[in-house]
Amino acid sequence: MEREPYKLSLVDSHAHLEELDDLPNSLQEAKSAGVCGIIAVGMDIESNRKVLQIAADDPQLVYPALGYHPWQIKEEEVEANLSFIQDRIGEGVALGEIGLDYKIRIKKELQGRVFEKLLDIAHESNKPVIIHCRYSHRRAFESVKKKKIKHAVFHWYSGPVDLLEEILSMGYFISATPALVYSPPHQEAIKRAPLDRILLETDTPVRYQEKESRPKDVRVTLEEVAKLKRLEPYRVAIQTTANAFQFFRISLHGN
Ligand SMILES: [Zn+2]
Repeated sequence: MEREPYKLSLVDSHAHLEELDDLPNSLQEAKSAGVCGIIAVGMDIESNRKVLQIAADDPQLVYPALGYHPWQIKEEEVEANLSFIQDRIGEGVALGEIGLDYKIRIKKELQGRVFEKLLDIAHESNKPVIIHCRYSHRRAFESVKKKKIKHAVFHWYSGPVDLLEEILSMGYFISATPALVYSPPHQEAIKRAPLDRILLETDTPVRYQEKESRPKDVRVTLEEVAKLKRLEPYRVAIQTTANAFQFFRISLHGN
């Protein structure tokens, strides 16, 4: 790594840590790369349990979010997943990953029902939400708005530009991933969103251009956002880390 004139503090606002076989090493590498916080997102009961444990094991670095991902929804498991989140949400910094995905075969009606119930839990517990949407941006946005959610991040936003304006006008955030290296719609969204509405993330362990990501790759996201915004990376780091602290209502341990 090149010598750095300053020490970065970055937050990876979206990682599936429970899917990593090399977790201790990945966390160590993240710390060495300047990552000071990771939001570990859950997908279902089993992954939520793991996320809570990982965060308990490294509370200075990892913050848990409890979710029920649209890919995981099965009619017969809905009740148990919702109750788990309802019972344990006090231990999490956010609800996520939740949302709508119209590219998959799970019925839209079922996805919509589950999503709205999760948004109700977020509203009652006053937690921010981390939203996944694919071919469903407008629908997801309308639900979030209808449920009067105050704090939402539209993760890896690559949706329509006019909808982005509405998302921003509601005070919501979007997040940037390493896909900025190659994805024009994602680049366009990040170019348009003001820096104080952007969170950085990796969506670890998603593969970008054949390479599996890890939380340290939030550095890639940082560099790409800095290029698009024509700003020095340290300025982008300072603002987006402040955004993440504010959005998830966390603070640096020991400070
Ligand atoms: Zn994800």
